[in-house]
Amino acid sequence: MNDYEETRLDDGNTPEEESATDTDALSGDDSGEKKHGPERFCFMCRRPESKCGGMISLPNDLNICNDCMQKSFETMNSSLSKNGIDLGNLSGLFNLPNVSFVDLGGIFGQQKPKEKKSPEKEEEIRKQFDYHKIPAPHKIKASLDEYVVGQEYAKKVISVAVYNHYKRISADTSDNVEIEKSNMLMIGPTGCGKTYLVKTLARLLDVPLAIADATSLTEAGYIGDDIESVVSKLLAAAGNDVEKAEHGIIFVDEIDKIAKKKNTNQRDVSGEAVQQGMLKLLEGSEVEVPVGAGSKNAMVPMQTVNTKDILFICGGAFPDLDSIIKERLNKHASVGFYADLKDKYDNDPHLLEKVTVDDLRAFGMIPEFLGRLPVIFTLDGLTEDMMVDILSEPKNAILKQYEKLLSMDEVKLSFEKEALRAVARKAMEKKTGARALRAILEKYMLDIMYEIPKDENIGQVVITKEYIEGNGVPRIVLRGQPLLACD
Ligand code: ADP
Repeated sequence: MNDYEETRLDDGNTPEEESATDTDALSGDDSGEKKHGPERFCFMCRRPESKCGGMISLPNDLNICNDCMQKSFETMNSSLSKNGIDLGNLSGLFNLPNVSFVDLGGIFGQQKPKEKKSPEKEEEIRKQFDYHKIPAPHKIKASLDEYVVGQEYAKKVISVAVYNHYKRISADTSDNVEIEKSNMLMIGPTGCGKTYLVKTLARLLDVPLAIADATSLTEAGYIGDDIESVVSKLLAAAGNDVEKAEHGIIFVDEIDKIAKKKNTNQRDVSGEAVQQGMLKLLEGSEVEVPVGAGSKNAMVPMQTVNTKDILFICGGAFPDLDSIIKERLNKHASVGFYADLKDKYDNDPHLLEKVTVDDLRAFGMIPEFLGRLPVIFTLDGLTEDMMVDILSEPKNAILKQYEKLLSMDEVKLSFEKEALRAVARKAMEKKTGARALRAILEKYMLDIMYEIPKDENIGQVVITKEYIEGNGVPRIVLRGQPLLACD
């Protein structure tokens, strides 16, 4: 509600009454007008001077009644102090009763940027950040193992890179040896656990995490999110604590979607320009971001965040990257001695692991961008065995969650090994990685969750392969009967 509306409502008049009052006044019914010439009206509440008493005259024939003036200042003062803007006591200084001064710069988002941290302050923050509190790489990996199935190489690389990253933050730079940032680029098919790996990592390390989608990012001024909005998200994830955000992680997914488009002369808004725009963030720069909102907007206060210690992890599926790698390898293979090995790579399951920076450049990533992501690694596509493990092994595996739900009704839920395989096979067909698992199980578990609580005599439900394949039903064991083992 703006001041104008607020003042009108506080009058206690309905809009109809207001307009009637206005019309009366304008038509000259009011005796005040007859006596003193044209009567003045409050610009905000539209009441005539005869009703509201004194008026304050402003340039351009604007008049505002005392009530509206007072209410405007009160509203502004309270909203500014809520936003932490200190106006100082200027009214006291000028000794003007009932008048306080407002900092319009603050209202319109031009608040003074946060003061730059002094080297002493930076040193103090660095000392506070003790990398000994960050677990050693093997411990990080062991914790990741509890949640993420397979992806051994990726877990190892990420554990070392994160450990080094936090060492870098707390490293003493007085010897002029500055450790480079270990921003990462992870390449792996959809649903193989890229996002899950980063989420698990951030939770284990207890650092704020922002997840952004590269496809929604555009250069400033275009429709979509500014590139800097990712930092704003991180600030929000850190509860608007700038220092916490400055040690957080930003995961930019679908990074392959901002590859440079080939064979086009059009202005490339979403691709190369976004890569260019991300360079300074990846490297480390001070950015002004709105607090508590996704977009820069006149009424939102700004905060300065330095990205030099923020760990950036970019991820993408990079479809067709394998054919670029194959082409390169085949070119090499067709030279002289190795010519007979030409189709050696056609069915190589580890082809993606052979990726080089040149392959990624051929895909459309610009060299400056790749230069700022020194740790590049790949994740494996999920196999049927991995899918079965994902269902049952991780600490918060989907099956464990369903078991817990039914155990609250004192019913034991079991799955035949072959039933799990059948679910994994169905998920493999969908080609969306492990994401399909939950959707498939949900469908079968719906009836179970609906029917079982109806009958208090049921003690165990066994999900069978036949039930998953649609030609059978789950096995039911009544209370008091021996439970079935399913291994
Ligand atoms: P993407 O690689 O496309 O980012 P996600 O990480 O979002 O895929 O995976 C989708 C879901 O699948 C995750 O939330 C997680 O539950 C599950 N998942 C995928 N891969 C694994 C894995 N290797 N181990 C355990 N769960 C996984």
